[in-house]
Amino acid sequence: MREVEPARRTALVDEVARFVRSHPTVDLPEALDERFRWLVTYQGELHRAGLAVPSWPTEFGGRGVPISEAIIILEELGKARSPELINFVAVEVLAPDLIAFADRQQLREWLPRMASADEIWCQLFSEPDAGSDLASLRTRAHRVDDGWRITGRKVWSTWAQFADRGMLLARTGPTDSRHRGISAFVIDMRQPGIEVNPLVTMTGASEFAEVTFDDVPVDADGLIGEVDRGWAVTLHVLANERGPYALRRAAMLRAAMASVPERARGVDHTRTRASVIDAYIAMWLLDRRISQVADDIQTGQPVGEGAPITKMSLTDAEQLIFDAAHALLGPHGVVGPDDLGWVEGWLYSRAASIYGGSAQVQRNIIGERLLGLPPEPHPR
Ligand SMILES: Cc1cc2nc3c(=O)[nH]c(=O)nc-3n(C[C@H](O)[C@H](O)[C@H](O)COP(=O)(O)OP(=O)(O)OC[C@H]3O[C@@H](n4cnc5c(N)ncnc54)[C@H](O)[C@@H]3O)c2cc1C
Repeated sequence: MREVEPARRTALVDEVARFVRSHPTVDLPEALDERFRWLVTYQGELHRAGLAVPSWPTEFGGRGVPISEAIIILEELGKARSPELINFVAVEVLAPDLIAFADRQQLREWLPRMASADEIWCQLFSEPDAGSDLASLRTRAHRVDDGWRITGRKVWSTWAQFADRGMLLARTGPTDSRHRGISAFVIDMRQPGIEVNPLVTMTGASEFAEVTFDDVPVDADGLIGEVDRGWAVTLHVLANERGPYALRRAAMLRAAMASVPERARGVDHTRTRASVIDAYIAMWLLDRRISQVADDIQTGQPVGEGAPITKMSLTDAEQLIFDAAHALLGPHGVVGPDDLGWVEGWLYSRAASIYGGSAQVQRNIIGERLLGLPPEPHPR
């Protein structure tokens, strides 16, 4: 990764420190609505300070800094336990895809509002019977005079209950057209015909929802990319979700890992110590991977090929770090208090081997596409 000159590094560190001093870490409100509103305001302030999307082009609300400098900002925010961007699906997962497929005028309208969290976006890909096998999705878009009408059901849609817009995959080809008959749309989520039912997870939060669409209109210019060619758009989104997204998540994990060894020093329990060492190794490996991802972004390399490796490194680090943290808590891991956020982190870390594509599926992709191993047998 490109070196950042010491003086520049110091300036960035100071800049984040100033922001953090004026926005000290607080206990987030318990009630989800209040917590959500707090985090929206926080992202807005982070954005106004130029720290939410520093590497985005200025035209779209960023400040155009190289990725190596953006990583310093992320690291410093992570150390200060700055909360994750509430609009992370928009910023990390969908925006890079829109930059590749949407037109400039749409980008100028959408991206700054994503960055400031003035507009919350959700990702409407997974369905009750189409998760790993996304190409079997059944939500349908049919053409009408002025655009499209959407009917179907999505699930696992993060923050859909608060979303203003969503990126949605729907079938536009024949029923059995698989990935050849899928199109991608941007849909206004504040319309009649959309019903959103939040689902409660084991962390106690309702982070995602089931969403049904009953003949919901989308304008013609809501189509992203070409009709029936939405699979290219999908692959781009998945590559970002499995690759560059890890940059921001890794900063949070690095900060969590930093407090683990200190707590482990007095521990005389072989399995717990082994778990701390495994966590340290996983974080070390994730850091190496992150450097590679940053290099790829900086040199304009496609991020897709190594994305499943990045996703697996992230999954391992997230689960092993919180396993170690949880082991160190002993009985407090069950009954609290959770002042370091380790219990919530441990519960959430179970999702790391599912979100963005399950660990088994990432392994299949690595085996089949990168190593040329024989494909998994498919039951017929
Ligand atoms: C926290 C979280 C947030 C999410 N946010 C979103 C979101 O915002 N938008 C969205 O669209 N989706 C979202 N998802 C959904 C996520 O992408 C899917 O859960 C994931 O792709 C797996 O799909 P599934 O749940 O349908 O499981 P399934 O595909 O039914 O898989 C079930 C099990 O079978 C295994 N399996 C399936 N196929 C194979 C195979 N070929 N070989 C080996 N094993 C296999 C899987 O690994 C898994 O263990 C989110 C998920 C989580 C956990």
